[in-house]
Amino acid sequence: MKLSFFNNKDNFLLLYPVGTGGEIITSALSESVPNINKIPREEAYPIGTNRWQSVCKHGYSKDPRVHKYVGEDDPYKHDLYKDHYHSYNTKIVTDYWDPNMTVICFDTTRNRQYWTNLAWQKLNEVEELNPDFLKKQTGSMQQDHDNLSYYTNYFKKSHIINIDELSTSCVKLADQLQNIFPNLRRYKFEKIINKWIKQNNKTLKNFTSPEVSKTPMSFDLDIVRTSQERIEMILHPDCPIEVMAIVAEYDKDQEVLEALWLRKDLPSIDTPRGRKIRTLLKLRIDTPVDELEKTQENILVNKERWKAFCPIAWNHLATNADGSIRMCCQMIHDPYGTVYKEDGNVLTGKDDITQHRNAPVWKKLRQDMLNGIDPEVCKLCTHEEENGIGSKRQWTRKLYEDVYHKAVKLTEEDGTIKDEEFPITYMDLRFGNKCNLKCRSCGPTDSSLWYDDWVQMRPDRLFDYRGHNRVKIETLPDGTNTVPNLFEPEQTYTKLWSHIMNNLDTIKRYYFTGGEPTINLKHRELLDYYINRGTALEVTLDYNTNMAGVPSKVFEQWKNFKQVNLGMSIDGINSHFEFIRHPGKFPTVLKNMRRVDREKGFERLIASITLTLSVQNVLHYPEMQWWMKEQNWNRIEEVIIVHNLYGPDILNIQNLPIQYKKYIDKKYKKFLIDLNAKWNNSVEEKSFCRRVEQRCKSILMHLWDKEPNVDAYDRLWPYMEQLDAIRNEDWKQSLPDIAQMIKECNEKET
Ligand code: SF4
Repeated sequence: MKLSFFNNKDNFLLLYPVGTGGEIITSALSESVPNINKIPREEAYPIGTNRWQSVCKHGYSKDPRVHKYVGEDDPYKHDLYKDHYHSYNTKIVTDYWDPNMTVICFDTTRNRQYWTNLAWQKLNEVEELNPDFLKKQTGSMQQDHDNLSYYTNYFKKSHIINIDELSTSCVKLADQLQNIFPNLRRYKFEKIINKWIKQNNKTLKNFTSPEVSKTPMSFDLDIVRTSQERIEMILHPDCPIEVMAIVAEYDKDQEVLEALWLRKDLPSIDTPRGRKIRTLLKLRIDTPVDELEKTQENILVNKERWKAFCPIAWNHLATNADGSIRMCCQMIHDPYGTVYKEDGNVLTGKDDITQHRNAPVWKKLRQDMLNGIDPEVCKLCTHEEENGIGSKRQWTRKLYEDVYHKAVKLTEEDGTIKDEEFPITYMDLRFGNKCNLKCRSCGPTDSSLWYDDWVQMRPDRLFDYRGHNRVKIETLPDGTNTVPNLFEPEQTYTKLWSHIMNNLDTIKRYYFTGGEPTINLKHRELLDYYINRGTALEVTLDYNTNMAGVPSKVFEQWKNFKQVNLGMSIDGINSHFEFIRHPGKFPTVLKNMRRVDREKGFERLIASITLTLSVQNVLHYPEMQWWMKEQNWNRIEEVIIVHNLYGPDILNIQNLPIQYKKYIDKKYKKFLIDLNAKWNNSVEEKSFCRRVEQRCKSILMHLWDKEPNVDAYDRLWPYMEQLDAIRNEDWKQSLPDIAQMIKECNEKET
C-alpha cells in the first residue's frame, strides 16, 4: 500500500545502503535542522537492533513494535523518513513511498569493504550470519549504486549524496546536506556524526573476517553478485554446467555473456547442454561472436593495454597552424606531441607523410600503448578519464573499434607499422592562424588578429611556437603587422595537400580548427572537392568554430556532408562573450546559432557549446548554463561542454587564491540547489540537472586539484589592465561578477 501524506508539507526520505548509518544520520539531521521534526537519537536503541520505529510513523513492517512512533510531531515542521535500499527489489521502496517526497540517496563508489565489514561486525553481534554475508553485502552496495536512476526518476525531487569519505570525515557529507538544508547547524551535526565515526572505527578494531576467501566458491544463484563477481563465478574451473546454462539463458549483462562465451573450456557443441549454451549465447550476445573472440580475448588477456590504447596512434595525423605535424591535439603540454623525423628535424606538411609514419615519437607512442603503459604525452586524456569527463581516447576507441585488434596483430615490437595496413583515415587540419577574433586566452600562435596587440605588449615582437619555433612579427611598409610565409597553407602544406588529394576516398573524417576554420579558403576548397566528386556523404566533419562570422557559403557546404559536429567555442553571453572573445559580437553569434538550430538542411548537424573555462568566466558559467536551458534549442545540445584552461597560467582557475575558490565553490552549490528546484518536473529535466551537476563537480574538482600559484595570480591583473588599455576596455565593467567577488572577499578580510 502506498503511503499517503495528508500533511501538505515537504517530506524527505533518506535512502541508504545497509550499514552506512541511515538511522543515526537521520536523527542527527533532524536535530540539526530547526524546521524538521526531531527524531530520538540512536543511543536509545542498541546498535544492531532495528530502530525503524524511531523514525517512521507508518512503517510497512508487520511487527507491531515498529508502529510505535516516539518522535516530535509538530505540524509546522517537515517530516524526515528513512529506508534501506532494497537491492533485490527496488519496487518495495517505490510501491510504498509517495513520489512527491524529496528523496536523498546515499551512494558509494569506493570504500565499500569498510561499510561491509562494519555491518558484519555490528550485525554479527546480534544474529548469526552466514559467511557469504560480506560478499553479498558488497554486491548489494554495487546494486544500490546501479539502481540510483530508478529512484531519482521515481521521486519528484532527488539528491545524490556521495559518502565515500564518511568513514573518516563527515565534512563532505555535511557540505552536501547543507545544499539541501541551508539552515543545517553544522557544528551540532558534525559533533554527533564525528562521535559515531569514532565509535565505528573502534568497533572495527574487533573485526574478524569470516574467512570468506577460504570458503570454496559458492555457485548459489540466489546470491546477489556484481557483474564482475558473476564473471568470476562462471570462469571458475568448478562452475557447474547448470549454472552456465542459467547464466546463458537469463543474465542480462553483455559483459557476463561475453565472458562465458570466451571461457576456454565451454562445454562442447557435441553435447546437448553445450549445444544449448552455445546457441543461447550466440543469440543473446549483441556482437558477432567471431569478432568478439578477436577483440575481447585480447582485452581480457591484457586490461592494461586496453586502457592505454588509442587508435589515434595508428590512423591519425594532426597539424599545427605553422604546417608542422604533431600526433594529437590533446597533447597540450611541452613537447606538444610534435613529430621529429629520424634526422631530428620537425616533420612538416612539406614532407611526404607516408615516409615518416614510423618517426621515433610515433613508434614510442605505439610501443607504450601496446605494452600497457599510459603514455606521458597523453596525460590530458588520462586526467579527463580520472575526472569522469570522458576523453578523446575513449570516444575514438569506440569509433574505431576494429583498429585495436589489427594493431595488436600487425604492429611490430618496436612500434613500426606499414602505411598501407594503417592508412590515415582521420585528420586534424589547421590551415594557418587566420582568425576573426583575438580572444583573451589566445595569442598570435593561433590568431593573426593578435599581432597588433602583441607588438604593443612585447617590444621584442617574438612569440614561441609550441616549443619548436621562435617567431617574429614584422611590420610591412603599409603598417600591417604580419609573419611572412609561416602560416600560409599554400606554402606549408605542399606534399600534405597532395597526399590529401590522392586519398580523398580513404580519409573519412576531418577535424578543423585554426585560426577560425570557417573563414579559411583552403578549408572551403577541400569541402568543395568532396561535394563536387559526390562523396561528401561519406565524410564526417568536426569543428571548433567561434561562430562569430561563418560565411553563408560554409553553411551551405555543411548541408552536403554525412555528419557535421560543431564544437562552438563560446565562452559567455553578452558582455562576457564580447570581452573574452574580442571583437566578436554576441548578437551575430546568436543569429548563427539559431540558423544551425532551426534551418532546414542541418538535420545531420550536431552542435554544442564548448566553453573554455578560465578565471574570466568561472563565475559566469552557471548563469550561461541557465540561459542555455531557457533557449529551448532544437538541435543544439542544452548542456555546455567545459574544457578547463591550463595556459596561460594567469587565467587558470587553479591559481586563484583560496578565499576566491571558496566563494566560487559556494556559488556553484547554490546554483545547483536553484537548478534542481527549477527543473524537476520530468525525467528529461532531472537528467539535465544530473548532467549539469556532473559538470559542476568536475569543475570544482579541477579548481581544488592544485595549490594556487601566487606568482601567476599576481601577474593576472596587470596583464588584464595592459590589454584593457590597448583595447579600450574595462574588465570590471565587462566581468562584474569577478569584480564583485574580489570586493566581497576583501571586505570580509578587513
Ligand atoms: S590518448 Fe589522448 S592524447 Fe593520447 S593519442 Fe589518444 S587522444 Fe591523443
